[in-house]
Amino acid sequence: MQLIKNITTYNHAEGLLDKFLADKVKRYGQMRNFDFGNIEKNFVSGLSPAINKRIISEHQIASRLLQNYEYTDVEKFIEQLCWRTYWKGYLEHYSQIWDSYIKDLEALERDADLAAAINAKTGIKCFDHWVEELIETGHLHNHSRMWFASIWVFTLELPWQLGASFFMENLLDADCASNTLSWRWVSGLHTKGKNYLASPSNIKKFTGQRFEPTGQLATKAKPITTDDYTGSYIHSEKINKVKDIQCYMIHENDLSYEQIPNCEFLLIQKYNFGMIERSAIVKKFIDDALKNLQIEIKKRSPAKIVFFTFDERKKLKAFIEKNRISKIYSSYPTVGPIEKELEDLFTVLTVKHEYLLSSWDQLFWPHTSKGYFKLRTKIPAILNTLFTRKELDA
Ligand SMILES: Cc1cc2nc3c(=O)[nH]c(=O)nc-3n(C[C@H](O)[C@H](O)[C@H](O)COP(=O)(O)OP(=O)(O)OC[C@H]3O[C@@H](n4cnc5c(N)ncnc54)[C@H](O)[C@@H]3O)c2cc1C
Repeated sequence: MQLIKNITTYNHAEGLLDKFLADKVKRYGQMRNFDFGNIEKNFVSGLSPAINKRIISEHQIASRLLQNYEYTDVEKFIEQLCWRTYWKGYLEHYSQIWDSYIKDLEALERDADLAAAINAKTGIKCFDHWVEELIETGHLHNHSRMWFASIWVFTLELPWQLGASFFMENLLDADCASNTLSWRWVSGLHTKGKNYLASPSNIKKFTGQRFEPTGQLATKAKPITTDDYTGSYIHSEKINKVKDIQCYMIHENDLSYEQIPNCEFLLIQKYNFGMIERSAIVKKFIDDALKNLQIEIKKRSPAKIVFFTFDERKKLKAFIEKNRISKIYSSYPTVGPIEKELEDLFTVLTVKHEYLLSSWDQLFWPHTSKGYFKLRTKIPAILNTLFTRKELDA
């Protein structure tokens, strides 16, 4: 069995996708909500850590699906893929949600109830099991994440922000948008007044009878409040390709080989960004993915390569000045700590920079400012724009 923490190259991810397509995709719609406690037994792909770092992109996955299947046969899987795109786009429209979350985290107290929860000592068997599974494997099935977040917020009555932070530290696929906004969705803050309350019978059915926390869970959801946020979208002008690029920077939020242009200089992030709290397995996953990309690039690109860490600002500045680099291009890092760090870095380096946005994000994100179901109606038309018949037949 290929563990998902080892899916650190495009070839690994493609292999996992092919295995999922051969064995599971047909039953995905019917079975995806079951968590039998083992990725091999479950009917989901396990691709999210790789997608999240764009080791394999949404575009590449959709292309492979549409080359091999009719749209209707893989519709449910594509729709789930687009949930990711929806959350990413939504946070781009409402980036203040991220800033408020970080501010709240700084102010919140860490008490004994929190310690019991994150040390698997609540006495709720399923919840304690998921804590251990998450810490050990860096992964939880989507339905278990929903039950976990619901128990955290409504039964244990802990702040959702601390739960989201615990996930961010331990998930291999930790993603600022999907995680923060899913926690808010469970808490009833995304679609106002609509929360997700976990029930013992639902847990029993979808864990294949492994757990049934009868009498242990909240039966009512205490209302939780949030600020109102105003949307604004700043990416309409972004492009996805430039003809002549002198210098391109690769950071951990986009490790897709397909995005890398021909250029004279490549700046490549060396290790995982150290300012983010992450478990050892998450750090190792990112370091391995960066290392494998570095090896691949060295084999294939004639560019002069410089490896950097975010605290090597003097070294970077000297390199930029020596080589008269006037502008650095990079893939858009999306809302979160890497984007903030890059903005700061480019200011210190006093060099111009421009972010490129993938054609997938360019086409989907403008439709992500409202509910997911608005976006869902656009999926077939957007896929038609993205994939010409020729590309699918290739
Ligand atoms: C509280 C909570 C926190 C979450 N935090 C994260 C997170 O930090 N990072 C993350 O990538 N996902 C997060 N999710 C969404 C979802 O749980 C994972 O994307 C999914 O479990 C990944 O497993 P998979 O690759 O086997 O999914 P599959 O079912 O095989 O789906 C294929 C792909 O579609 C996307 N996808 C599927 N379901 C969702 C969903 N509900 N939301 C967003 N994208 C989805 C993912 O990219 C996934 O890899 C969270 C969900 C909840 C309820």
